[in-house]
Amino acid sequence: MDLHTYVDVLPFVGEANANKLAKLNIYTIKDLLYHLPFRYEDTSQILAIKNIPADTQNLVTIQGKILEIRNIYTRYGKKLTEAVIEDASGIADIIWFNQQYLTKTLPVGQEVMISGKVTFEDFFKPKFISPSYEVLKEGTALHLGKLTAIYPETKGVSSKWLGSRIHYALEKVTIQEWLPVEIRETYNLVDLDKAIHAIHFPESVDEASNGIARIAFDEMLLIQLLMQEKRNIAKNGSAKPIPSDSNTIATYVKSLPFSLTEAQQKATTEILCDLQTNTPMNRLLEGDVGSGKTVVAAAAVYHAYLAGEDVAIMAPTSILAKQHYDTFVNLFSMYGIKEEHVSLVTNKSKPKKESKIFIGTQALLFKQEILDRISLAIVDEQHRFGVHQREKMVNKNGNLIHSLTLTATPIPRTLALSIYGDLDISYLDELPKGRKEILTRIVPEKKRDDMYSFIKTLLDEGRQAFIICPLISLSDKLNVASAKEEFERLKKDIFPNYRLVLLHGQMKVGEKDEILEAFKRHEYDILVSTPVVEVGIDVPNASVMVIEGAERFGLAQLHQLRGRVGRGEYQSYCFLLTSQAEQESIERLQVFSQNTSGLKIAEFDLQNRGPGEVYGVKQSGIPTLKAASLLDVGLITKTKEVAQGILTKGLKRNSSIYKQLEEFKKEIAKLN
Ligand code: ADP
Ligand code: MG
Repeated sequence: MDLHTYVDVLPFVGEANANKLAKLNIYTIKDLLYHLPFRYEDTSQILAIKNIPADTQNLVTIQGKILEIRNIYTRYGKKLTEAVIEDASGIADIIWFNQQYLTKTLPVGQEVMISGKVTFEDFFKPKFISPSYEVLKEGTALHLGKLTAIYPETKGVSSKWLGSRIHYALEKVTIQEWLPVEIRETYNLVDLDKAIHAIHFPESVDEASNGIARIAFDEMLLIQLLMQEKRNIAKNGSAKPIPSDSNTIATYVKSLPFSLTEAQQKATTEILCDLQTNTPMNRLLEGDVGSGKTVVAAAAVYHAYLAGEDVAIMAPTSILAKQHYDTFVNLFSMYGIKEEHVSLVTNKSKPKKESKIFIGTQALLFKQEILDRISLAIVDEQHRFGVHQREKMVNKNGNLIHSLTLTATPIPRTLALSIYGDLDISYLDELPKGRKEILTRIVPEKKRDDMYSFIKTLLDEGRQAFIICPLISLSDKLNVASAKEEFERLKKDIFPNYRLVLLHGQMKVGEKDEILEAFKRHEYDILVSTPVVEVGIDVPNASVMVIEGAERFGLAQLHQLRGRVGRGEYQSYCFLLTSQAEQESIERLQVFSQNTSGLKIAEFDLQNRGPGEVYGVKQSGIPTLKAASLLDVGLITKTKEVAQGILTKGLKRNSSIYKQLEEFKKEIAKLN
């Protein structure tokens, strides 16, 4: 048996229990040993029965002999087990529910430890309600009488049972240390096998937390090794420097019809600095919708163009590629880039002969003849390059290609340290001046009619509105059904004199596009949509976003939805309706309505719901951490340092660190 053996080899596990363990994501012995407790019950204080305080709310642990035990059935069919336990100081009653077998496990005379909540129905006699128990073998206990680990459980898998299986496994397998002794000493880390033992069966709280600290260190170190390795592949390669003529950018900035925001200036400088060295740029430009990422990217393109270099710009879909092409051609005409130098490259559209700037889909990445020519690649949205793509991004002369990724997904800075450790980041954290802020209001039910009247006045002025139906279930079918109902209600009872159209997730792609295009042409006043439909379309004339059941959405999602309006010259509004108003969700929505910055909203989400919930983290490919926190800046800094040290020395193929990292990569590959 080793760490990779399946759990079903353990005694009393078998197929049925293995299936239950799978629900906890436990498949192998390693998974079992890394199934960490989320708290400990302290049963180390064994009280004499007569000393149990009458008013205690705490867990009480006693040790004694079973004096009486019997099963009884109540008139209502409940199955109870009543027992009396005795120690040297007195007696206590115990009651259990639906555990008839206890009369066999705990026969009269059995030495047992009991731990649980106590009531004093009979004034002088304590009564334990459904306590945990442990039969004592030669007077010693495995679970009770110390700190007891409480694990995430599932039906039929109790903490106690998990503890016993972990105990057994720990006796059978050896846990190999993988960190060199110098690192363990420098950072005060306990040995790995000691850590694992301590986590499951600690003698003290300190011992348990030292164990957890060791596992957290391992987790974060592996992430940092991965990130730094990616970064090194990128940084150790060399790229063609793109020198700047200092007038370039001044001329460019002057030619714009507006002045750049400070954030835009800073980002532009950062990017142009990167481009001038032979270290390949690997930068993320993060900014909300409308923050002006395009002009910053265009500055980089213009800079490269003037230096005589070719550039590729990639979009996630061909529709967006076409949209980009139009935008860029337009922008470039301002500073004299010839149209024959700009090409749209999709499956259907081939580059022009004299092209210097290639705008297209990811298909670009697979056109070696284009990769061979370009020195800079700009990627709009979502697609981050893994090591593989990165390795592909080598041109004819063996140079790596500078890369800049644009994203509107806000990743809080603290989080970015760990999940984007391989990238440099520029933030556009301010919107251009004079932008009208979208006014966001939480609408109480009694104001619903007022809201409808207000929307009508806007529609009468010629504006358009989105109404997003509530997310009532995870099932698309149910959501569509409820959206259809809502659509009929709105059409008949609320907006009989307006043109409404319904968009939902079960429509065909072509059908959806047609509706969106028609809405854009203002053939409809109101677009009613199910929540799952990505309304990824620019309708500058739309100035109202109504979100029903807003408490069901994550803040990041709400932010994306709200970003659908406020794209034109009109004052825009976002109305949030809640079906059941819990205080906590109201507070969340208040934060949302008072903040327009995606980054601030993501930071709030992070503080309140943890990193797993922040949009973009799941997509980052980093597995859910068991012990480490993605927000632990101290740990991140430490492990980053260690990772760099390790990689600088070079990773030998047969070293334990190398093997551990390979295993980690395999685990990640399995997840994604
Ligand atoms: P996004 O970051 O969403 O890609 P865009 O680059 O499309 O944003 O910019 C949105 C709009 O704002 C465009 O019409 C653009 O011309 C304009 N814009 C960009 N920067 C500024 C600025 N500094 N001042 C005023 N308008 C700007
Ligand atoms: Mg954009």
